[in-house]
Order: sequence, then structure tokens, then C-alpha cells
Amino acid sequence: MAVDSFSAKARKISANIGAHYVDNARILPWRSSPGGNLPDPYHVWLSEVMLQQTTVGAVKSYFEKFTRRWPTVQDLARAEEADVLAAWAGLGYYARARNLYKCALYVTEKMDGIFPQKESELLLLPGVGAYTAAAIAAIAFGERAVVVDANIERLVARLFAIDTPLPKGKAEIRSAMDAITPDHAAGDFAQACMDLGATICTSKGPKCGICPVQKQCAAFAGGEMERYPVKPPKKAKPVRRARFFWIEQQDRILLATRPPKGMLGGMRGLPDDGWAAGNDGHATPPIAGEWQVHDNIVQHSFTHFSLQVDLAVYQDGKMVTNKGDNIWWPLDNIAEAGLPTLYAKAVDWKLKEEK
Ligand code: SF4
Repeated sequence: MAVDSFSAKARKISANIGAHYVDNARILPWRSSPGGNLPDPYHVWLSEVMLQQTTVGAVKSYFEKFTRRWPTVQDLARAEEADVLAAWAGLGYYARARNLYKCALYVTEKMDGIFPQKESELLLLPGVGAYTAAAIAAIAFGERAVVVDANIERLVARLFAIDTPLPKGKAEIRSAMDAITPDHAAGDFAQACMDLGATICTSKGPKCGICPVQKQCAAFAGGEMERYPVKPPKKAKPVRRARFFWIEQQDRILLATRPPKGMLGGMRGLPDDGWAAGNDGHATPPIAGEWQVHDNIVQHSFTHFSLQVDLAVYQDGKMVTNKGDNIWWPLDNIAEAGLPTLYAKAVDWKLKEEK
């Protein structure tokens, strides 16, 4: 496409998406209304970290819980890390929670509780990558930054029918997003694109009939909307096997704290075999005695592998003492233990099986 016609198309897209947002913005607890005052940077940062790999629907209640309990970044920094991890339980991708806490400490101790405004400075914060830095700079501080999340990636790939498969195609998508991002109100524009991707230009069955940029959309013109963004061929995920250990006495179960580094680091869970790659789920139990093993009670999908879990239930009635960091947790209060979904699924399975 010639440069002039590309720029004209970019301007039209930008204007149509901006105008559509005025009447159609989603109302979300961390947002300001279109054209309104800039929202609280703490709220923008918190919501953006929560929204990485997680849907808006799942994030809303967590965002409200966090801001009620820790209304400012300083309040969050004063919390115990274990409480933050427990409050995060169920949202997944727990490295985000550890980085969230680290970042709260950093902003509070090194920056007097004030978030930096520039994308380049935001990038230096723990757990803040290119997308999040751009989103905070644009949404919270009105800086012109080019924001590309998964919804925007899909929308832009379709508007310009970008044929290069991901992840290579990301550079072209970013440059097209750069071309349509206006100099003013870049935060509103980014949120307008996110909304359009989430509600109209959906990955399956896009609602092109009500789309404000249908006339400018190359994928629509070619009748191949769902072809974009072009994905690389899928690789099968490896499957790992894990064994969890259920040790119960006097209506309490033994919970362990995972090592601080690695997957679900620092979170509470059932004692287990570590479920490392190459481990077949037949680790030595934490205590000697008789165990009953239930095969494959839970399947859980992580980004790079799937996990099948066997549950070994301790059969001996004799008293067991605490080991290391382990604690006894009352079963009737298990919801408060802050268990990640993987362990919560295993506990649910066991409690249902007892009924
Ligand atoms: Fe997406 Fe359809 Fe709009 Fe193109 S016309 S941007 S495919 S919703």
C-alpha cells in the first residue's frame, strides 16, 4: 500500500475507533471514563499485572479485593508477602504476585510511593515488561505509547491482514499499531482497541456487522477474518506426572510451603514429589506407613506442560508431627489457605470423594 493511502487508512481507523469508544467503553473498576481524568497509577499497574494472561471477568473481584485490603501501593508494600500470595491464589501465574510485591516494595522504598511516568522508567520496575510499561504510561500518564496486548494484536493483524506468523509478525503488528495510535489520549485509544478486540473483533465469530472499522479492515475485505493473527503450527505439550500426599488427622490436613523459587514458589500446597520434568510421580512419601494411591485425579495445564496428578492418601491413624515449614490446616477453613488452583482442585476431589 502506498504511504499516503496507508496514512489515510491509519487516520480513519484511529478516528473511528476513538469515536466508537466514547459511547461503548466498558465500565471497569480500574478505569476512568473516556476523556475523563487520568486514573490512579496504582490501580492501572495492579490491573495490568492481574490482566496478564487472565480475563477481565476473572480479574474484577481480585482487583476489588486487593484495593479494599491495600488501598495504596504503600499499604501493599507493608503487607506480608505470604498474605499477598494467598490473596492472589486462584489467579494463576504466581510469579506475577511475587513480582507485584517486589514492585510495591521498590516503588515505596526507592520512589517515595510514586510510580514513574515514562515508559522507559516503568520498564525498570520488577515484573513490568514492554506491554505493561506502555499500558501504564499511556493509560495512567497520557504518554503516547504503543500498547499491544493479545486483543490488540488480533485486531491490528486483521485490519492490515498481516500474513507473517507470530511471533515474528509481532514487529509488523506493533508498527501498524504505532501508525494508528494518536498523539493525544493514547491511553483512551489503547483501551478502545482492547475493548474492540474483546467485544467485537473476537477470536472466534467476530461481529464485523457492528464493527466501526469494517470498511478499513483488510481481513474483512478478503473474507478471511479468523485467519489472523497467523499462528505458528502448534507443538504438543509434554505431559508430566505428579504425586500429592494427603495426610489428615483430627479434621486437619498437612500443608507445605513450596520453595521460594520456581513454579508456584512460596505458595502453600499439599506435600508433593516436586513434579519436576523426568519425575514419574512415584516419589518417596514424606512419612513411612501405608498409603492408598488414586491415579490421575486432576489434570492441570501450565503454559509449557500439562500435569497429571495422583493423590496418595495416608492410611495410618497414628499421630504425625509437623515437618519443616509444614502446617496443619483445618479442613473446614481450607478456602482461607490460599491454595493455588492446582492444589485446590486436588483438595476438592478428595473432599467430594469422601461424601
Ligand atoms: Fe475485526 Fe471484523 Fe472489525 Fe475486521 S471487520 S476489525 S475482522 S470485527
